[in-house]
Amino acid sequence: RERKRAITDPLTGLFNRLALIDRLQAVLGEFVEGGEPPSMVMFDIDHFKRVNDTHGHLIGDRVIRFVAQALQKNIKGKDCAARYGGEEFIVLLPETPPHGAKAVADNILTTVSQAQLVRADSKKPLGKITVSAGVAHYRRGEDIMDFIERADRALYQSKTDGRNRVTVAGE
Ligand code: GH3
Ligand code: MG
Ligand code: MG
Repeated sequence: RERKRAITDPLTGLFNRLALIDRLQAVLGEFVEGGEPPSMVMFDIDHFKRVNDTHGHLIGDRVIRFVAQALQKNIKGKDCAARYGGEEFIVLLPETPPHGAKAVADNILTTVSQAQLVRADSKKPLGKITVSAGVAHYRRGEDIMDFIERADRALYQSKTDGRNRVTVAGE
């Protein structure tokens, strides 16, 4: 139970950042020569400051939980989802080529953007929530932080290209 608390993000129930990095180290350790390397997808909620400013932090927290559920719903098996920062998430996909990771990310974007969230109190709609994503496929011998950095740069590209989209980092 202690251990579970140490690896779980209390707001969402996803892995926390440290647990994600542990898991990533384990996946890279198990990944055999000649096997398919893992991919990761980094997500960031679009214009999230607006959600907080318009509806307050409690509703903001509910939106974070909703995005976490959308991640969980669209992964399976050995995949894992983590809350990497405030409104940033990482999905780790062992043995997954870039096009597979892109497909998972597209499904998550669709799940999020098609939801019609309403405030529990007033029943008023929250408006469309979207996320942007960056995919990176592991390069043999790459440092873990460089791997994360490539996903982050691809995510940044999705933001500058207009948000609510997925960018795949160059191999
Ligand atoms: P962008 O589309 O560029 O991502 O715009 P953004 O408004 O989402 O900008 P940014 O990602 O920089 O802002 C994140 C905001 O998320 C800032 C911070 O106040 C808010 N935030 C971070 N963690 C939490 C949290 O746990 N709960 C709530 N309610 N808000 C949070
Ligand atoms: Mg952010
Ligand atoms: Mg954001």
